[in-house]
Amino acid sequence: MATLGIPQNTIEVLQKYKFRFQKKYGQNFLIDTHVLDKIIRAANIKEEDFVLEIGPGIGTMTQYLCEHAGHVMAVEIDANLIPILQETLEAYDNVMVVNDDILKMDIGQIARERNGGKPIKVVANLPYYITTPIIMGLFESHVPLESITVMVQREVAERMQSEPGTKEYGALSLAVQYYARAEIVANVPPNCFMPRPNVGSAVIRLTRHRDNPVKIADEGFMFRIIRASFNQRRKTLQNGIGNDGSLPVTKEQAAKALERMGLPATIRGEKLSLEEFAELSNILLRMEGSHA
Ligand code: SAM
Repeated sequence: MATLGIPQNTIEVLQKYKFRFQKKYGQNFLIDTHVLDKIIRAANIKEEDFVLEIGPGIGTMTQYLCEHAGHVMAVEIDANLIPILQETLEAYDNVMVVNDDILKMDIGQIARERNGGKPIKVVANLPYYITTPIIMGLFESHVPLESITVMVQREVAERMQSEPGTKEYGALSLAVQYYARAEIVANVPPNCFMPRPNVGSAVIRLTRHRDNPVKIADEGFMFRIIRASFNQRRKTLQNGIGNDGSLPVTKEQAAKALERMGLPATIRGEKLSLEEFAELSNILLRMEGSHA
């Protein structure tokens, strides 16, 4: 089978099967061999790797993955793509195609059963409508993971990689950086896809930290503090936390904690690093009268 990264080959396959794109599934297929090469190189796929691909489409990237990895599992929600994948991947015996919704699957169990619990690599040109739930789901469910190398909306990639004090910095940056080192490895324009998306895209590599980068007493509590701090971006941090009805922390307690950290009372959440959010949540947890 000739590479599907060449637009003419993709068009031929789509016509043969009379395939109709489904917008609701975020279907934008890659038609650029340079971008495919870049993704594979960035993911550093080796013969011994077990790779999970989310949304193989017609199998364009899957073919590349099968050439480099030991095993590939490709999970595709659209049943109309399954017969196409059977044809485009027929040359490979190291791939398993599963017709399912990735958000409903237990990836941890797959890693345990199929890869002996060893860390897997995730590679995908993600459906943009569920980028965040997919990535956060993989991290939060503690799937054994080495890395996630994915195409996402450029704006989302920038948020994941951004530093404190920038306008892109927010709860997503902190959540991703708590679990992984984030690096944008390529910017990809709309003309590399069929059909063209309305937004620019980027490939981001998230390399899972081996050890947690910060020491926190209660991970869930820290993330609640983070979310409350960014819910009302233009408010000061102490107001954001104090006004959040679901948090057992008063504005006065938040102010006291900031003072103990030597931070100004007027500071906003967007200025705090992950280390500072960890310290803040640890102080609030220990604080007398706190019901956290
Ligand atoms: N990997 C292909 C490529 O690069 O050409 C297709 C990428 S396309 C952006 C996203 C793919 O994810 C589509 O094939 C779509 O049907 C599939 N998809 C969408 N939602 C999904 C879900 N919840 N679970 C699994 N696959 C999904």
